[in-house]
Amino acid sequence: MSEQKPKPKKPRGVARLLDGKCIACGARCQSSCPVNCIEMTDSGEPIVEVAKCIGCQKCIKICPSDALEMYFTAEEQQVLAELAALAAPVEEEIDPEAAALAQKLAEYRGVWVFVEQTEGEPAKVSWELLGVGAELAAKLGVELSALVIGENVEHLCHEAFAHGAAKAYLMDAPVFYHYRTEAYVEACCHLIETYKPEVILMGATGMGRDLAGAIATRVGTGLTADCTGLSIDDKRNLMQTRPAFGGNIMATIMCDKFRPQMSTVRPNVMPMPERREGAAGTIIRDPFTVPEESVLTKVIEIIRDSHSKNKVDITGAEFIISGGRGMMGPENFAMLQELADELGGVVGASRSAVDAGWMPGDRQVGQTGKTVRPKIYIACGISGAIQHLVGMQDSDMVIAINRDGSAPIFEVATYGIVGDLFQIVPAITAKIRELKNKKL
Ligand SMILES: Cc1cc2nc3c(=O)[nH]c(=O)nc-3n(C[C@H](O)[C@H](O)[C@H](O)COP(=O)(O)OP(=O)(O)OC[C@H]3O[C@@H](n4cnc5c(N)ncnc54)[C@H](O)[C@@H]3O)c2cc1C
Ligand code: SF4
Ligand code: SF4
Repeated sequence: MSEQKPKPKKPRGVARLLDGKCIACGARCQSSCPVNCIEMTDSGEPIVEVAKCIGCQKCIKICPSDALEMYFTAEEQQVLAELAALAAPVEEEIDPEAAALAQKLAEYRGVWVFVEQTEGEPAKVSWELLGVGAELAAKLGVELSALVIGENVEHLCHEAFAHGAAKAYLMDAPVFYHYRTEAYVEACCHLIETYKPEVILMGATGMGRDLAGAIATRVGTGLTADCTGLSIDDKRNLMQTRPAFGGNIMATIMCDKFRPQMSTVRPNVMPMPERREGAAGTIIRDPFTVPEESVLTKVIEIIRDSHSKNKVDITGAEFIISGGRGMMGPENFAMLQELADELGGVVGASRSAVDAGWMPGDRQVGQTGKTVRPKIYIACGISGAIQHLVGMQDSDMVIAINRDGSAPIFEVATYGIVGDLFQIVPAITAKIRELKNKKL
């Protein structure tokens, strides 16, 4: 009688990090480990304490960049080979927690863009968001929808179709005439609970920031504010990129356990999609409404800022001539104004120039100022700190004038002029005048 050799036990291996693949996503691997055997380095990468690792693979499954793998010793690899040779089909271990999560997330489908409006007038950022929303929807293989709330705002549904939406969820009632957090949160949460969108995008405006935060809290999901980049990974997660730690790094944030995934994006960050005149779509009218008496906030009147007529809105300008600390004083901004007048543009500023009191705060370009996307951005005496670059680097053309040839502004410049701005700027203005006079 031959004695049967006992079947060897399947080795579990240990997790290990693959060189250069970790994107420092925020220690997901560490938080997923059931035996606390992962420590994080200062740069946000994991170190696995192999003696404690039980090979459960949770860290591998959760890693968004496939930066971790299972490691088997030579002996373990031999055992695996023996088991494979025995040809006994090894049943995949199903993680019930992961299966339940996958099922919950699968209930949510579709990309939504909130169409912001004030007294029927849409905010331009909503159309910009439909542009990026269309890309996300195509990647996910789902529909792009607009979320339109207000009174007598059906025209905005058609405008949303012209900017790429296939569908519009419309809530049209007097109670929604003015934006009020309570009423809009109720309306949005009702639609979210009913139709379960996968992604919701809103403008990072006063209204968008207020509404997005309140909704995310109510529905119990994550929200990333002021995103500068949005894309989809191979697990249908929305990868939301934004500056972090004072703009010194770009962080990619994901919300992989909750839905919908919510982001706000500042005006002018995303390009405006091409308008498709007469494009049609489906309007889903939802009769849900909120009783007026349940809304504590009452808007009596919207008073437009009387100074706003004299204010310059740099976000809509096609030509911006910005000055930084290199301008040396407020009086020298007149030189930039002259050039701006010739080009039909406006004058912007770096934060240093604003902090020095040389220019008003509404002219500041950058992370804590405005995001601009003009046809031509001329940076004069601006070094190009990351906090400034995030506000202007998507301009169609950047011309940098700086006497320091190694200034970082030249890294984003289409044309760079190394030299003294006090000579270069007046020379450019004079040349433009000369060319204009020749034309006359
Ligand atoms: C949380 C946070 C948020 C911030 N947000 C913003 C923001 O929104 N916007 C912003 O701009 N900054 C922001 N900053 C500040 C930012 O880090 C920089 O300090 C700032 O942008 C520098 O401004 P600057 O380029 O004008 O000045 P500097 O860095 O001092 O550069 C001046 C430049 O002028 C050049 N120069 C000097 N004289 C001449 C001359 N005669 N001819 C030609 N070139 C000359 C110099 O070579 C130099 O490169 C923020 C910082 C933090 C920490
Ligand atoms: S395989 Fe499991 S036990 Fe090992 S590090 Fe990853 S999560 Fe922790
Ligand atoms: S989950 Fe992946 S990307 Fe995130 S910190 Fe861990 S190894 Fe890096």
